[in-house]
Amino acid sequence: NEKILRISRLSIIYGARRGFVKAVRDVSLDLYRGECLALVGESGSGKTTLALSIVRALPTNAKIVSGNVYYHLDNNKEVDITKLTEDEMRKIRWREIAMVFQGSMNAFNPVLKIGDHFIETAKAHRFAMDKNEIIEKASNLLSLVLLDAKRVLNSYPHQLSGGMKQRTLIALSLLLNPKIIIMDEPTSALDVVSQKVVLNALSNIKKELNLSMIFITHDLGITAEVADRVSVMYAGQIVEIGNVFEMYYDPLHPYTQGLLKAIPRLRGSVNITSIPGSPPDLINLPPGCSFHPRCPFAMDVCRREEPPMIEVDKNRFVKCWLYMKK
Ligand code: ATP
Ligand code: SF4
Repeated sequence: NEKILRISRLSIIYGARRGFVKAVRDVSLDLYRGECLALVGESGSGKTTLALSIVRALPTNAKIVSGNVYYHLDNNKEVDITKLTEDEMRKIRWREIAMVFQGSMNAFNPVLKIGDHFIETAKAHRFAMDKNEIIEKASNLLSLVLLDAKRVLNSYPHQLSGGMKQRTLIALSLLLNPKIIIMDEPTSALDVVSQKVVLNALSNIKKELNLSMIFITHDLGITAEVADRVSVMYAGQIVEIGNVFEMYYDPLHPYTQGLLKAIPRLRGSVNITSIPGSPPDLINLPPGCSFHPRCPFAMDVCRREEPPMIEVDKNRFVKCWLYMKK
């Protein structure tokens, strides 16, 4: 299995009035060709920051303190995205790596029909296709995300429901044939039925186009529908990685176990237990394991020393002292 993206020991901080927010801390993560990787964690765990660094769209008060983001080009060359010039980056964004930003459903231009959004996007990126070709491509992509292409292309944004807009955005992000698509909370603003359709659309894309996806969500429950692997983030760090079934049926990290318990079940949804306590202040982090103030299994060592990432099985990692072989 070939790697298309290799994040290596990446740390990112934000300058804030109170001090430095350590939003991403020493994160290493691989993305393979053709896979869908879900990035799961509570709000504020650093998922968006990590994703923004991949398309180099971090806010100006953010700083990459250390680490690299290697992108594997088709010609077998690797580039370090953190080191590219803005000109070089323009060739990567949209064409190689596209991102559907959180809340960007509201970014449509209200006076442009959806068809024109596709044409404008192609123009803005100097994509070598004439109008008819663009519309044909757009129709195929819109059908792929389960929309009535003809109708949607002739609609204004306000004529579409939230779920339709979200799927349109996903189709738009695929216009220039990116190899990676990053989606930040693509379902969170939607009702349950629209969520389901978006997830179906994503499975469809995965089946038809051989691309790699990073799917950001705070809801571990919905990852089973589309993800191959799941990586769980807590307080800026990755605390567990595994394939989606292992993560679901045999979560190892106490935080992942807590996230799973927090998923409302279809039946007997009365016992929604969420994880007690709240995530730590990323400016003043607790010593040792960042999860120890909330962890029901915390031991002395957890309060003193940060646990290493432990490979418990092939492609199965957990950052927790409980799994350290004596
Ligand atoms: P959400 O789902 O709410 O977006 P997230 O897991 O994506 O959460 P991030 O948005 O990456 O988390 O935020 C990580 C941390 O960085 C949070 O503590 C957040 O408050 C902080 N942060 C994010 N953007 C900025 C900024 N521009 N300036 C200062 N701090 C920021
Ligand atoms: Fe809990 Fe300790 Fe594991 Fe951290 S290292 S998750 S505190 S048991």
